[in-house]
Amino acid sequence: MEKLQFKAESQRLLDLMINSIYTHREIFLREIISNASDAMDKLAYIGLTDEKVGLSREDMAITITRDQEARTLTVSDNGIGMDREELEENLGTIAKSGSLSFKQSMEKSEDVDIIGQFGVGFYSAFMVASQVTVITKKYGSDTAWKWVSDGAEGYTIEETEKDAPGTDIIMVLKEDTEDEHYSDFLEEYQIRELVRKYSDYIRWPIRMEVTKSRKKEDSEEYESYTEMETLNSMVPLWQRAKKDVTQEEYDQFYKEKFFDYEKPLRTIHTSAEGAVSFKALLYIPGKAPYDYYSKDFKGGLQLYSAGVMIMDRCEDLLPDYFSFVRGIVDSQDLSLNISREMLQHDRQKLIIARNIEKKIKAELLDMQEKDRTSYEKFYAAFGRQLKYGTVADYGAHKDATQDLLLFRSHKQGKLVSLKEYVEAMAEGQEKIYYVVGDSLDRLEKLPQVKTLADKGYDVLICTEDVDEFIPNTLRTYSEKSFCNAATEDLGLQTEEEKKELEEKTQQLQGFLTFVKESLGERVKEVRLSDALGSYPVAMVPEAGMSFEMEKYMKRVDPKFAFPVGRILELNPEHEAVKKTIDTMTADPVAAREQIQILMYQAQLMAGLPIEDPAAYTDLICRLIAR
Ligand code: ADP
Repeated sequence: MEKLQFKAESQRLLDLMINSIYTHREIFLREIISNASDAMDKLAYIGLTDEKVGLSREDMAITITRDQEARTLTVSDNGIGMDREELEENLGTIAKSGSLSFKQSMEKSEDVDIIGQFGVGFYSAFMVASQVTVITKKYGSDTAWKWVSDGAEGYTIEETEKDAPGTDIIMVLKEDTEDEHYSDFLEEYQIRELVRKYSDYIRWPIRMEVTKSRKKEDSEEYESYTEMETLNSMVPLWQRAKKDVTQEEYDQFYKEKFFDYEKPLRTIHTSAEGAVSFKALLYIPGKAPYDYYSKDFKGGLQLYSAGVMIMDRCEDLLPDYFSFVRGIVDSQDLSLNISREMLQHDRQKLIIARNIEKKIKAELLDMQEKDRTSYEKFYAAFGRQLKYGTVADYGAHKDATQDLLLFRSHKQGKLVSLKEYVEAMAEGQEKIYYVVGDSLDRLEKLPQVKTLADKGYDVLICTEDVDEFIPNTLRTYSEKSFCNAATEDLGLQTEEEKKELEEKTQQLQGFLTFVKESLGERVKEVRLSDALGSYPVAMVPEAGMSFEMEKYMKRVDPKFAFPVGRILELNPEHEAVKKTIDTMTADPVAAREQIQILMYQAQLMAGLPIEDPAAYTDLICRLIAR
């Protein structure tokens, strides 16, 4: 018979499995049982709408058979089975899920021990078996298939006989060595222990023939007999009472189920009775999946109804801004004899979704308040998603998200929530000040930030693209309006100061006109400012615009990028400006050069590119040589 080769990817994983000197080989059983359980879930799902499936729940079981003489351990299920193509596709390549994410983390972490925490799938059988045979018959098909592989050498597939649909996985255990006692996996107590340890909450019975003893009739002697026994309790974790589940069990379940090797930051185990009854087990992960912020990412919760998994990623149960949450929802109340499409419009699902959303928000707020370190870790991973959620749909969801946001406080040098900012506002402070840009360092040195800091006012320093849109969307928080300190009137001037500035402007009108003429189209307007502190100049955008928006549009879609009008602000009290005013009458040519230098400086401070660096350098050199 022709030997077929594993796909290259799979070959590497196989080598890893076969050759790893590895302490948790025992998890192979968990993996094989988990596949069997999935296969039975699938058939049960079909059974909801297809009477021909005809299996009663009592018939459905996973059976483990030990044969010490032949050194085989067999795991049988009466699930959906596989046809020939599926055998090739599923067992000839690591196409998906467990094995693939395992491989990806292996490549990143180099830590072999993560195998134990991962769903590594079918291939893990080769950690303990020298040969694996799969006999399978797909539900609805007449033909059964036999797949045999001894790992490294590839595999064979041929037709075979099998009565009922389902799959038998027959593992020939490796020979014992000094260090590895593979035949332990043929011992009754060992299997019993492994099932209890790793597969207790599998929802199908896992049965095995066990030996028991009883008193002989009319005699004092004992005799042994065998009997099929169900080894697992079959109660899924989320159906158990909270007090009976340890955090360790929650964590372990999360890691296996959602292919993460890090513990979740928070676990939410909740249930509701009433209009719709349900149980939910939800997790807040500590890091974002590699594709989280890409279009490919698919969020959602696993949906069970009356013990049957009906949807793997039900997106309607989670709002977009909480799409990082992983977990399971189980409800008896979902009407089941309807197609998945119908289910999408289910009113009951909406009630569940609302309830879950509240729970998640409360949990996150609790973490924010009581465990700041974890919250900041969470925020580093998913804060961006919360911000997108805040600005999405014109701020329709802001009530759910705004209190979860954090921004960097200039005054405190750490992240603060809007609530914390407002609570800490100085006496007399009316607005929530913020600045947006790409460099923290530059923003902290902005003259406006300094002016505010001198008054004891805090400024939120925002460095992400999306930050720009948040104040515009929220408009106010706790009745305080937002003020972009770099571009808007800080609102600090008294009437007297305003008048003074107006007078000064009239007085210097000739100079301001001269500056505008010298710079031509490069600036839209020139004006005086008394808010520049120790800085001579500042470049600010025209009203309602920002330079960050201009940069953002240029990056995202240059077609729609538009230049934002630049306004040059001059500090009439600054020596450099005063000097330029004097020079204007004495030496207009030199004055024009000084004005250009000042403009370039304003651009640099505002984080704007200098279009003609050579011209700028030239100007500075001439100034030095003067
Ligand atoms: P995973 O279970 O993570 O998808 P595996 O390598 O364990 O990865 O299995 C690959 C695929 O093989 C499964 O997704 C499933 O389609 C199929 N498979 C494995 N075991 C069984 C089984 N007992 N019955 C039916 N299909 C199975």
